Amino acid sequence: MIPMVDLKEELEFLREPILKAITEVLDSGEYILGPKGRLLEKQVAEYVGASYGIGVANGTDALYLALKALNIGPGDEVITTPFTFFATAEAIAEAGATPVFADIEGDTYNINPLEIRKKITPKTKAIIVVHLYGRAAKMDEIMEIANQFNLKVIEDACQAIGTEYNGKRAGAIGDIGCFSFFPSKNLGAYGDAGMIVTSDTDLYEKIIALRNHGSQVRYVHSTIGVNSRLDEFQAAILLIKLKYLDIFLHKRKEIAKRYTMELSTLADKTPPVLETREHTFHQYCIELENRDQAAAYLSQNGIASAIYYPIPLHLQEAFKDLNYQEGDFPVSEKAAKRVLALPIYPAMTFDIQNKIISALKDYLNTN
Ligand SMILES: *Cc1c(COP(=O)(O)O)cnc(C)c1O
Repeated sequence: MIPMVDLKEELEFLREPILKAITEVLDSGEYILGPKGRLLEKQVAEYVGASYGIGVANGTDALYLALKALNIGPGDEVITTPFTFFATAEAIAEAGATPVFADIEGDTYNINPLEIRKKITPKTKAIIVVHLYGRAAKMDEIMEIANQFNLKVIEDACQAIGTEYNGKRAGAIGDIGCFSFFPSKNLGAYGDAGMIVTSDTDLYEKIIALRNHGSQVRYVHSTIGVNSRLDEFQAAILLIKLKYLDIFLHKRKEIAKRYTMELSTLADKTPPVLETREHTFHQYCIELENRDQAAAYLSQNGIASAIYYPIPLHLQEAFKDLNYQEGDFPVSEKAAKRVLALPIYPAMTFDIQNKIISALKDYLNTN
């Protein structure tokens, strides 16, 4: 079976330096909030183009802590997309605020600035933008709305580390950027890990305390926080992988280019090339009328595919109290019925991609 992501080859390529780095951490006796974590915070912040990085336990916590740092809680509304991984809106609810959904653009699957405008009320405090699949959202328009209505902008860049937009990188455009280093992400650890970036010194100091029980000086607690720290083993692994990130992203883009070249006339939709909105292809999604049938055909031919995401968040049982209905976000609902993600990972060979393309062509030419 050709999997969605194959990390084995990457591991073989990096095994030696990773084992060495892990041994260093073992011998150092510093396992949490140590020198590797601090170096990773500095390097990720630099890479992204923000002043500060704060390592946390995972991407979901990054979003939650970003909201807490902005004093967002009960009675506040946060506008976000219904077409994303559950964690984006879960973090808003966990912070005690209300997720308010705004529909997406049909070509990029990112939140539509025109729809954001319709959802603003006196209770709106922030927008969480998701750079879905690795594609930059329409940040100029979104920042303009935020300035006009005095809203904060959190970027859920969990799928988009390295994505460029107008000379900046995802995560460094809004007030706070959030990253996940879940193993299958474009920069992945071998366990859970995450990072927050910001260029605001006050927010930085707040988040540094919030991730560690509201404490900056041991046993002195200025506020109620959480335990959400980045461990030294994951930091050591990520420091090694960060060196290769640009090469890995380049490979993803090359693979995507070839998919589009081969499939654009056969699929109902392939990702458009947009000059100002880079795509780093955490996922490569096409749209098909009979998506499920195509997925079954691929599976019979030994090829995995996946659906990100089959149920838009406004129709999730967990959010039934928000009282949304089918039909509220037609663009998201249509995408959820039609998108199909194809395998993509930096080590994918030409041969493997050929197999995927020819199986899909066989299906599309006869259906
Ligand atoms: C992966 C992901 C998250 C959550 O990250 P975790 O590290 O798994 O908690 C949040 N938002 C998006 C868009 C993601 O892809």
